[in-house]
Amino acid sequence: SRLPATELNPALLRRWPLPQPGFDGDKETRGHVLVVAGSAEMPGAALLAAEAALRAGAGKLTVGTAASVAPQLGTALPEARVIGLGETAAHGVQADSARRLGELAGKVDALLVGPGMQDEASCVELVHGLLERFGSIPILLDAQAMCTVHPRREPHLLDEAVDWEQFRFPSPVLLTPHAGELARLTGKERAAIEQAPHDAARAAAERWNAVVALKGATTVLAAPDGSLWQHQGGNAGLAISGSGDVLAGIIAGLLARGTTLEQAAAWGVALHGAAGEQLALRCGPLGYLAREIAAEVPALLRVLA
Ligand code: AMP
Ligand code: MG
Repeated sequence: SRLPATELNPALLRRWPLPQPGFDGDKETRGHVLVVAGSAEMPGAALLAAEAALRAGAGKLTVGTAASVAPQLGTALPEARVIGLGETAAHGVQADSARRLGELAGKVDALLVGPGMQDEASCVELVHGLLERFGSIPILLDAQAMCTVHPRREPHLLDEAVDWEQFRFPSPVLLTPHAGELARLTGKERAAIEQAPHDAARAAAERWNAVVALKGATTVLAAPDGSLWQHQGGNAGLAISGSGDVLAGIIAGLLARGTTLEQAAAWGVALHGAAGEQLALRCGPLGYLAREIAAEVPALLRVLA
């Protein structure tokens, strides 16, 4: 029979220390993260995720986002290099942007794709192009980008040679669905996933060859080898729009620093939850903003790491 989930608590995290840069480390040694995110209607998701990557300690940041919002993003996030990408009629990023971004292969240490992106068909094709070009670095697919495992709409627009029911990543990537997203990706009922989140996360991890963080009040983390963790913490105030974008950015920043997918997800989930607890203490249990979460992370890293 299978082992139960290991509780992700501060004691466990302390035994799983993050890579620390030396005192003389420059920004390259702390990692360069590429965030591909945002659209004309959801430019803020790119901002939230990208800023969170820096707050988690990544040294350098490049953002690829819809060309129509790229200048505003650059102003809001002066720390980033921002690359404007061509847009589709459905407010997606054109799939051939993978070629443009591919010029960064070999220069970046971690890749996050998905927050705030639209147009499933172009997004799936873009992700395939990015997987080909960035196969040797850790990759986190969130939100729209997770449709790569199972596009719902217009599959006839996509590569017919792929059997979506049999989809498997050639090497593991990290996926961060909430129960609703995992339901859509697997064709299961959301309620069934919520009743048996450990089984659902483990089945998805094994089937897709992915590390899966199934988010919720309790977040379950499953690896393709059957390893299983769970995290309880944070509070209902974290159930706000933009919250998951921040989590994805924190994890991407940790990946750039040189963690494994499992470690980045474990630490990211714990830091995100602890940030929610800090904000609840200071501001109140509800009504703090997603944009306030990431700024809590540096002080938490001092305590936890
Ligand atoms: P998303 O749905 O993508 O915006 O992500 C929401 C984030 O908030 C996830 O990281 C969830 O784990 C977290 N979250 C949502 N509700 C709660 C809750 N009641 N307690 C703790 N964390 C939560
Ligand atoms: Mg989300």
